[in-house]
Amino acid sequence: MRLEELPTPCYIVDEELLEKNLKILNGVRERTGCKIILAQKAFSMFKLYPLIGQYLNGATASGLYEARLGYEEMGKENHVFSPAYREDEIDEIVEICDHIIFNSFSQVEKFKDKVLKAGKKVGVRINPECSTQVGHAIYDPCAPGSRFGVKQEHFRPDLLEGISGLHFHTLCQQNADDLETTLNAVEEKFGPWLSEMEWINFGGGHHITREDYDIPLLEKCIKRMQDKYGLEVYLEPGEAVALNAGFLVTTVLDTLENGMEIAILDTSATCHMPDVLEMPYRPPLQESGEAGEKPFTYRLGGQTCLAGDIIGDYSFDQPLKSGDRLVFEDMAIYSMVKNTTFNGMALPAIVVKDKSGDYEVVHEFGYQDFKMRLA
Ligand SMILES: *Cc1c(COP(=O)(O)O)cnc(C)c1O
Repeated sequence: MRLEELPTPCYIVDEELLEKNLKILNGVRERTGCKIILAQKAFSMFKLYPLIGQYLNGATASGLYEARLGYEEMGKENHVFSPAYREDEIDEIVEICDHIIFNSFSQVEKFKDKVLKAGKKVGVRINPECSTQVGHAIYDPCAPGSRFGVKQEHFRPDLLEGISGLHFHTLCQQNADDLETTLNAVEEKFGPWLSEMEWINFGGGHHITREDYDIPLLEKCIKRMQDKYGLEVYLEPGEAVALNAGFLVTTVLDTLENGMEIAILDTSATCHMPDVLEMPYRPPLQESGEAGEKPFTYRLGGQTCLAGDIIGDYSFDQPLKSGDRLVFEDMAIYSMVKNTTFNGMALPAIVVKDKSGDYEVVHEFGYQDFKMRLA
């Protein structure tokens, strides 16, 4: 199929752009000997797991369903972290996962024997109490009152038997300088136990495939843990794997005026790009400018009845008209994993652009996908 023939709305993931990211990550693996796994929370497009598996060591999950997806569709190293595991799910998790990371020592005590008996690895998530992001409390696992990770004051050296690794996850879209700061806090608070471990997991939030990311400093951080403590180092980025590798294509349905020009699109910020409202941020849009930069400025809004279903104000060289197509960028991550059918919105189709430039619609959704989640 050609681009103009695709149904809208649709997410397109570009294999070539994805592979470009995977090659950068693979370079870090090759130069340092660390292991890198996909955090499926950001990107679970399993059609592309075979490609991702060619470059990364496996996947990590936040619970049974993601773990099962990684097990079924990637079939490599399979890790899981959950703030607390359910008794009725732990057996299946132990069966399909290699590393099971616990958020508290009470969870360790409850489930450790099962994990060890199955020959799998037990890890503990620590909270180094080192906030390196400002103004983003919902993305800061070190914020006061956080439910994530064991703090130094609650750490139980008497319960370390059978625990082979420590895990921390404190970053969000950050550079390696913040990782270095965090590692200092990890060493300061948990240093005495690091050499008793086999592995350490640096979590996600490393924006490794962003242009200005300091890869040499990341590699220095990895080598520091390898050399000083003899640890195997894991990274589990989500965003960085599919950063700037996807698009959301939408069609203008109508234009109207209310003190400013408004265009209604066949997509929705709240349903199809929820991070635009939650993060919040302004997604890049091809062939557009800031409000007022080009001659024709529009407020772009969605089809739902939510007044705040606004993607943003953008300007164009020509007036928008019904039938025009717009292409939002960086829409592979935290998009199709978070979308909803709120207000009866249809879900965007999922499309792959392969390396020869062809488009393949791999999944289309309809009324049944809305109805089946209700009763
Ligand atoms: C969200 C998350 C990740 C991935 O984070 P990105 O910001 O997408 O890189 C990795 N590990 C854990 C435990 C997470 O919660």
